[in-house]
Amino acid sequence: MSFDTLGLRAELLRAISDQGYTEPTPIQKKAIPVILQGKDVMAGAQTGTGKTAGFTLPLLQRLSETPLPKGRRPVRALVITPTRELAAQVGASVETYGRHLHLRSAVVFGGVKINPQIDKLRRGVDVLVATPGRLLDHVSQKTVDLSKVEFLVLDEADRMLDMGFIHDIRKVLALLPENGKRQNLLFSATFSREIKELAHRLLNQPELLEVAQRNTTADRIEQVVHPVDKRRKRELLSHMIGSRDWRQVLVFTRTKHGANRLAQQLEKDGLSAAAIHGNKSQGARTKALAGFKNGEVRVLVATDIAARGLDISQLPHVVNFELPNVPEDYVHRIGRTGRAGNEGEAVSLVCVDEHKLLKDIERLLKKDIPSVVLEGYEPDPSIKPEPIQKGRNSRGAGQSRNQGQNRRRGGGSAKKSASARGKSSANGNQAPRKPAKKPNAGGQQNRNRTGSGRGGERAVLLGGRG
Ligand code: AMP
Repeated sequence: MSFDTLGLRAELLRAISDQGYTEPTPIQKKAIPVILQGKDVMAGAQTGTGKTAGFTLPLLQRLSETPLPKGRRPVRALVITPTRELAAQVGASVETYGRHLHLRSAVVFGGVKINPQIDKLRRGVDVLVATPGRLLDHVSQKTVDLSKVEFLVLDEADRMLDMGFIHDIRKVLALLPENGKRQNLLFSATFSREIKELAHRLLNQPELLEVAQRNTTADRIEQVVHPVDKRRKRELLSHMIGSRDWRQVLVFTRTKHGANRLAQQLEKDGLSAAAIHGNKSQGARTKALAGFKNGEVRVLVATDIAARGLDISQLPHVVNFELPNVPEDYVHRIGRTGRAGNEGEAVSLVCVDEHKLLKDIERLLKKDIPSVVLEGYEPDPSIKPEPIQKGRNSRGAGQSRNQGQNRRRGGGSAKKSASARGKSSANGNQAPRKPAKKPNAGGQQNRNRTGSGRGGERAVLLGGRG
């Protein structure tokens, strides 16, 4: 099946062919005709499935077909994403696919100066891609008007809720034309009860589209667990990268501190490495990502939130240096590999402390991940499991506050994890910030925000994942 049969206009087909795409991905085949018909959509599609083009292409077509409202060019399509990186990537896709049309777009996110964004908005844009915090900053400064929005996209909605953005989303929804006067598209890799509730509030008789089974990992991704003692993980990682000649590896740690430390250790082992997490400035993150993409940086060490939305095509190797506290994060992590038709490999280094986390992940996946002990790295059976450390960097150096909660959860199911996720969202900060005086829940933080002078996606929280 080619793109020609989907009902897209010539300018878009040209842009698609400029990109070298020959066939639509499964989500594109399903989503494009439905969105062109003007229906609301609730789509279960992971990053890497081509979902961005799946909503951007029909959105651009619908925008180019509807007449421009009179007066200053208002925002007609609003795409909200959880992270800056994802916003930047979606914005780039809008530019790429819309290059032969005469539509204007802008991307706004925190961590960078607001004035250039204000200038751009003032000149008028048709498509606005935004992270929730900065969008509300613009709202409070009256530099954006959302009352003419005809299309709303919530991208990676599950992540948005994980990060505690629900209150921000609600505020944004209240500024849009009433429901029924706009088309709503919701994309999510996983479907928790909270997501379903949001969808129920937001969508009108949505078409349900799903391409990968819910909460399961893409089939193309080969997964393996290597049991290994905690103190030998770094050595094993360097050994695997060197001996298998991996040129581009994305490695996940649980904490910002752990990401920094591992990147430094890998550098000492002679591997070019960089860390990417929420305490890094936007410039440092962009630089690390660019270095990783162009091959200068061989190993990118990332925390969950920082890595969310990274679009690195053909990424062959993802390593879980530490398993995530929240099983759903495993799905997101390994979604970085095996993208758009490419094979991928996801390796997890699992020490005795993490057996319960592994069980939770396998329960979510509804399958066991093959476990292979590597010669020379056999775990020492005399080492007893220890609780996963919390505290040392939980209030400023990056360990998730909910690790203790996770431990106390005992045999926590995926469902329980989802609720724990809500708690961890308080730590799920993106922007470099001053440490919070005291821990708080995400919603509370949002209610406390002033909206001015923050310049980032989330207010005062620090010390968590990402
Ligand atoms: P996404 O899931 O939107 O992050 O897209 C994942 C990757 O797939 C991006 O690098 C896209 O450029 C690429 N992609 C999207 N659609 C296609 C297609 N039809 N054929 C090949 N690659 C694609």
